[in-house]
Order: sequence, then structure tokens, then C-alpha cells
Amino acid sequence: MTEKPVYSIVVPVYNEASCLHELYRRMVEVMERTAEPWELVLVNDGSVDESPNIIRELANQDPRVRPVMFARNFGHQIAVTAGLDYSRGDAVVIIDADLQDPPEVILDLIEKWKEGYEVVYAVRAEREGESFFKKFTASLFYRLIARITDVDIPMDAGDFRLMDRKVVNVLNTMREHHRFLRGMSAWVGFRQTGVLYRRAPRFAGETKYPLRKMLRLALTAITGFSYFPLQLATYLGFFAAGLAILAIPVVIILRAIQAQAFFGQATTLIAVLFLGGVQLICLGILGEYIGRIYDEAKGRPLYIVSESPEDFEKNTKS
Ligand code: UDP
Ligand code: MG
Repeated sequence: MTEKPVYSIVVPVYNEASCLHELYRRMVEVMERTAEPWELVLVNDGSVDESPNIIRELANQDPRVRPVMFARNFGHQIAVTAGLDYSRGDAVVIIDADLQDPPEVILDLIEKWKEGYEVVYAVRAEREGESFFKKFTASLFYRLIARITDVDIPMDAGDFRLMDRKVVNVLNTMREHHRFLRGMSAWVGFRQTGVLYRRAPRFAGETKYPLRKMLRLALTAITGFSYFPLQLATYLGFFAAGLAILAIPVVIILRAIQAQAFFGQATTLIAVLFLGGVQLICLGILGEYIGRIYDEAKGRPLYIVSESPEDFEKNTKS
């Protein structure tokens, strides 16, 4: 057994074989400078490349590396959640495997933690090597979330952050299936602060967040922290009804002074199609919330682990 770590570094890994050795090397270099015990929790989120083998190899060489193997791909936010569950440090750092978040910044996060902050999130002052589209949608996303949600989620901060054990313990009791960790860690409160950093380009490989997944995460963020989309139906309903009431006298008067006015089906058709569309959208929004309620009602585990750090230790000893 290794001594109890002060710092836990949690890394979700999905097909990151080309990054893992470099990640480990840079992490050791940075964490040695703290002169305190630490652990690296690598959560393999059902990778289909060499990642699981590399993780086992690293864990074999260095007992500070603790592997968590998922039975399949559960997604980034769930992988991070598992990392938090298995972490043992007094301070837990969440960081991506692709080295877009430079490990060196962890030292700045630790400094703030030692000043007494319980959540230290890293704010992207600059993002290199990402497309205009990604930066634009990300910026739009953070601003939309800030407007319509009830919690103060810091702008331009990703999941790269340090959290005190107290905060992690609270988060570990929040077992919702559709998770937006940035929102959840803002929601819990405590003393929070940000540290500016430059987001580097990916060390190697491709992004694992295509537009589809980005949209899902945005939807999770919105539905998880706001009723605004549901209220939107009410507003639209009042708007359409108001319009209809206004239209009644207008049509009567126009018909009285000009017999030809408002003949034909085009107007009717457009109105029906428009309202039909609005109603379907509102149904869809309801569906998003109901689907999420259903997921919670089923009460399934958040993730399934095929090999835990303890299993790994046992297997390598025997
Ligand atoms: N990731 C994961 N499961 C997934 C998708 C991504 O564990 O289903 C991990 C991935 O390996 C990386 C982190 O989440 O460590 C962030 O992913 P990525 O760098 O592709 O996202 P981006 O930085 O492009 O938004
Ligand atoms: Mg990345």
C-alpha cells in the first residue's frame, strides 16, 4: 500500500493511447514539485484502443497510478464522477487526458487551495488550436447557461478544477444520472475562485466531443439547472393566444370595409402549421424532462466497473 495521498488527480480516458505516456510523464514532473504524496486515478471509459493496456502498464510500474476500468463507454461526465468516487486525496484535481489543460497549472490551483479556497476552477483565458466554430459555440453556450440557469456557473471554465475533500464528499452524494459537474460544483457553494490559464492544443489524437455530444451536454446543463424551457411553453401560449384575440376585431373590421379581405386557405394553413410546430417543440421539451425523470426513476447505477483499483492490486499480487 502507498501512503494516503494529499492530492488525487482524476483523468477520464477514452481512446487516448497516444497521450497517456506523455500525460504520466508531465504529471510526475509537476506533482513531484509539491513534495507531498499523490495519486493518479485513470478512469478508462470503455476505450477501444490501447489505452487500457497502457493504463495497466503504468499502474504496474507505479503504485500511485490507480486504474478504474469501465465495462463500457459511459461518457466523460460519468467517468469523472467515478474518478471522484475512487479518489482518496484531501484535494482532488479533475483534468483531461489530452494535455489541453497543462498539468503545470495544477500548482497554481494548489496554491489557491492552500489559501483556503475549496473550489478552484481554471478559466480559459485563451484557447489554442481549436476551431472558430468550437470557440464560438462554447462561448455562446457559457453565456446562454449564465442567463437561464439559477446557479452562478463560472464563464469559460471547463471541468479542469481542484476541489477540497469536503466538496467532493458532497458531490459524491449527488447521484443524478444526467450530470453537469461544473454546474454541480458551483451549486454546492463553499469558497470558490478561478485561476486564468491558456488552453493548449490537444497533444495528440482527435476530440472525443463531436457536436452531437456537445449539444447533449448543453441540454443536460440547461435541464439540470433551469425550468426556463418549460416556462417557454407558457410564454409562447400566452403570446399566440394574445395574437389570436387581437386578430378577431381586426378581421371583423377588415371584412366590413373590404369584402375581399382574408379569403383563402393560405393564412389558415400557415397559422395551423406554425402553431402545430410550436406545440410539437413544446412536447419535445416536455419529453426531455420526462425522459430524465424516467432515467432517475429507474435508479440504475451511474456506471459499471469491470476492474476497480482494488481488483487490480489483487490481480497483480497473485
Ligand atoms: N472522454 C471520456 N469519455 C467520452 C469522451 C471523452 O472519458 O465519452 C474524455 C477524453 O478522453 C478526455 C476528456 O474526456 O480526457 C475530454 O475530451 P476531449 O478532449 O475529446 O474534449 P474537448 O477538449 O475536445 O472538448
Ligand atoms: Mg480536449
